[in-house]
Amino acid sequence: MQNEVSPIWRSFPADLVDRTERCIHIALEQLGNKGSGHIFFRADDVAAPGRNFAKLMDIFRRQRVPLCLAVVPAWLTGRRWQYLNGLGAKESSLWCWHQHGWRHVNHEIDGKKQEFGASRNRLDIKRDLMQGKRRLEDLMEAEFFPVFTPPWNRCSLSTLQVLRDLGYVAVSRSRGSRPKVAGELTDFFVNVDLHTRKEWEPTLGWRNLFNELQQAIPSDRCGIMIHHQRMNAAAFDFLEMLIGILVRHRELQLVNFKHLA
Ligand SMILES: [Zn+2]
Repeated sequence: MQNEVSPIWRSFPADLVDRTERCIHIALEQLGNKGSGHIFFRADDVAAPGRNFAKLMDIFRRQRVPLCLAVVPAWLTGRRWQYLNGLGAKESSLWCWHQHGWRHVNHEIDGKKQEFGASRNRLDIKRDLMQGKRRLEDLMEAEFFPVFTPPWNRCSLSTLQVLRDLGYVAVSRSRGSRPKVAGELTDFFVNVDLHTRKEWEPTLGWRNLFNELQQAIPSDRCGIMIHHQRMNAAAFDFLEMLIGILVRHRELQLVNFKHLA
C-alpha cells in the first residue's frame, strides 16, 4: 500500500477558508430548491488501528457527522474490531461499516488495478465476496451493512451480478463507473477525491478539487472519498474546516449509506 501524500496537501492556498466558503456558497445557489443536497463521506482501507484513523474518527464524532467506513475483511481481527468500534461505540448511529474487497490485492496483469476485475472467474469472485462478508458479519454483527466498495473503485459485471445475488444493497464506485448497475443494486458513487489526487501541480489540484465539490453538491449526491493513511496535518485541518462549513448549512443533509438505502 502506497501512502504518499498528494501535492495539494503540501501547498495550501492563502485564502483557503474563503475559497471553500465561496465554493460551497455557489454550489448551494445551484442546488436551489432542486433537492436536499445529500453528502456522504467514505473512508477507505480501514482495518488497522493507528493515529490517523483515531484522528479521523475523532473529527466525525466531535462534529456528529456520519461516515461510511470501507473495511478490508482480511485485515480485520477481533482485536482490531474491538479497537475500531471502541472509537465510536457511543455514536454508533453515525457509522456505516461495510466491505472493501477481500484482501485488497490486484489480480489484473495488464491495465488498471482491480481485485474484482474481468480476469477473474465468477466462482473466485463469489468465494472472495462471501468470505469477506462472513468475516465482517461474524465480527461486527449488526454493525455490518451490506454495501461493497471495490478496491480502486472498479469491478467486473459478474461482480455486480454476484453482489445482487448475495443480497448486497449497493456498490460504491466512482461517478460514471462501468459496467452500470442494474436491478436492485444501486451505486452510491463518490465524486470528490481528497487524498489520492494525481495532479503534480498543487494549483491545478486545488482548482480541480473545488470544481468537483461545486459540481457534486448541486447534483444532490455528493460522495467524498477519504484515505486516512495519506493524510498529513494539513489534510486533517482542511477536512475539519470543510465539515465545519457543511454542518452550518441546514439545506445540506450529511448522511451515510444506511440513510440513502
Ligand atoms: Zn482501497
